Amino acid sequence: MSGLRFKAVETAISRLNNNKISETIKPSSYYCKNVFTTAKMKEYLPKNAYAELIETIDEGKAISLDLAEHISQAMKSWAISNGVTHYTHWFQPLTGATAEKHDAFFEPLPDGSAIDKFTASALVQQEPDASSFPSGGIRNTFEARGYTGWDPSSPAFIYETGGSKTLCIPTIFVSYTGEALDYKAPLLKSLNALDKAAVDVANFFDKSVTKVNASLGIEQEYFLVDLALFNARPDLQLTGRTLFGHMSAKGQQLEDHYFGAIPERVLSFMVDLEQEALKLGIPLKTRHNEVAPSQFECAPMFEEINLAIDHNQLLLNVMEQVALRHKFKVLIHEKPYADINGSGKHNNWSMITNTGVNLLSPGKTPKNNLMFLSFFVNVIKAVHDNADLLRASIASAANDHRLGANEAPPAIISIFLGSQLNAVLDEVETARVAKKVKNETLLWHGIPKIPELQLDNTDRNRTSPFAFTGNKFEFRAVGASANSASPMTVLSAIVANQLIEFKSEVDKQIKKGIKKDLALLNVVRKYIKESKAIRFEGNGYSKEWEEEAHKRGLSNTKTTPKALDVYVSEKSLELFEKLGVLSKRESEARHDILLESYYKKIQIEARVYGEIVNSLIAPAAFNYQNDLIANIKGLKDIGLKADAYSAQLELAERISTYVNTIIADAEAMRQERKKANVLEDTREKAIAYDENVKPYFDKIRYHINKLEQIVDDRKWPLPKLRELLFVR
Ligand code: ADP
Ligand code: MG
Repeated sequence: MSGLRFKAVETAISRLNNNKISETIKPSSYYCKNVFTTAKMKEYLPKNAYAELIETIDEGKAISLDLAEHISQAMKSWAISNGVTHYTHWFQPLTGATAEKHDAFFEPLPDGSAIDKFTASALVQQEPDASSFPSGGIRNTFEARGYTGWDPSSPAFIYETGGSKTLCIPTIFVSYTGEALDYKAPLLKSLNALDKAAVDVANFFDKSVTKVNASLGIEQEYFLVDLALFNARPDLQLTGRTLFGHMSAKGQQLEDHYFGAIPERVLSFMVDLEQEALKLGIPLKTRHNEVAPSQFECAPMFEEINLAIDHNQLLLNVMEQVALRHKFKVLIHEKPYADINGSGKHNNWSMITNTGVNLLSPGKTPKNNLMFLSFFVNVIKAVHDNADLLRASIASAANDHRLGANEAPPAIISIFLGSQLNAVLDEVETARVAKKVKNETLLWHGIPKIPELQLDNTDRNRTSPFAFTGNKFEFRAVGASANSASPMTVLSAIVANQLIEFKSEVDKQIKKGIKKDLALLNVVRKYIKESKAIRFEGNGYSKEWEEEAHKRGLSNTKTTPKALDVYVSEKSLELFEKLGVLSKRESEARHDILLESYYKKIQIEARVYGEIVNSLIAPAAFNYQNDLIANIKGLKDIGLKADAYSAQLELAERISTYVNTIIADAEAMRQERKKANVLEDTREKAIAYDENVKPYFDKIRYHINKLEQIVDDRKWPLPKLRELLFVR
């Protein structure tokens, strides 16, 4: 019965010592090998077409169909010379995964010959069948058609898998009526809004700023597990997490894994992963062990946000593929194992001007200080005023297990600044500022210069969901499996909105005759006062913080169905509409899709629990119980007294209690599911799953774990956590 488990363990152990590490080729020799970079365009495009392209990019204009024709031909030549046979539009529907539909370049002619064909129109627009992607009702009421449209700001690349090479063209995905059905379209709109708003504010200080790009560096945490062990656990296979399992006696309590030596088999995977990633232009730079056993992290050099997100989505695919080569399975789930750390995707975010200035980097001169302070304080104010929206942007069934759990930021959004910048804000807030300013030095009387901050880890608060880290903010509450476009669309939108508001307040004061610097300072000081509640420097994991946050009026919505409400609040709908990020219909559709995805995930987990309880755990427990019964009977038969079999008797009885409990709970849970399933309203259904179905999970888990501790190890059918976590 437990044959599969032991076979899997044996297989996993046999793989430990045959790993080659081949890190000899210089990365610079293959970086971007599979990317259609501007350098390659130069090589493949006619001279004038290339010049036109560069001009178009520099001026941020749309690419003409003529130019697209040239580019499609160049792309085709490059791809075919690299052995590519097919092309696809590559997009990010709201399923959370990436999608593609391959077409061959090959086209037969009537005379029996064939040509390779790729036209501008095939590059610019495609019409994949949209009907199987979530659309939140948008699709049903109008047309089933959906369109993908080329995003020239993210370069095309060649994806190699199973010996086949495909040219992938990053695209947006919209409905027949133009509504976004993906993550990329609203992100691009939101970035556009942020660009405009940030340029306007930057122009207070520097007229030569004409473009502001948001930058993003995504740290990706993940777990690895041996493929054979993974396949012996139906819960991991179907839900991405372990639904039960007694925590191994040794977990992360010794803290010996973090930054520890990387096991050879894992290192060999990482080296391979880095090579594949670099070929695709994903600039992976760091790798290390994370806190939990078998948990690791990789991080790229930061890039423009849209590109960084495409690269992260692509990275998840590459990780999966390379892991299989090494007979590993990558777990991207936010909480694969209860009781040890979960996995996040820290989003390091900043804003950088076309003149190369990081707007969140504290400068040396007072004037620069005011520019930094303006952007810095506006971000804080935006997060303060829209904390609920940020919380919603990272809400998912999987991330619910992580927020507030072991070594993860709580569901309360707060900002950590570090003692230095906290002191600066306090001083700016309370400093006496001259009402009439004769010269700049007077205005700045009492306001400290901000020293160049040391970018080190000394002043780090790892318990904060949104922390300032020297020259960028780090949004740490994002889940490992999330598409960062969701939180980054929201962050860009709320900051854009805030900067627009800021500019209008400053302009009003200037109109009244107040000097520009003083006007800026006045509004900055007002915002510092108004956004104080969001600032928190203490331990975000503590009970005291929950109480304190409650007193401050910060919200703490622990589960997804209710956290999502804010997506369709008056205020949010207006914000998104005003900035042109999402229409009301699009917001409502998204809300619906997220709720649906939530209850479906819980539904699947509930079903897997039912199956495991009834067809795996209970039979294993009965099997061992029969051994105990035979033993008791035998001892009785040979005439021993009750003392001789009292332990066995007690064990047999405990097994009955636990098994009865899990079977009864699984059945009660099924009844709750049936009730939830007939609810028409998606929100009510999601809440029913959260409040009435999900609570059984922990109860069942608890009793299965009790059984695991007493049932004969040889008869336990499924790999134990110590095997999943420590055989690597
Ligand atoms: P840590 O684990 O200490 O937070 P890492 O070095 O693992 O730090 O990751 C930091 C990430 O932040 C990297 O991806 C890095 O490129 C990125 N980063 C650095 N500066 C910026 C910036 N100005 N804007 C956005 N991301 C940045
Ligand atoms: Mg970090």
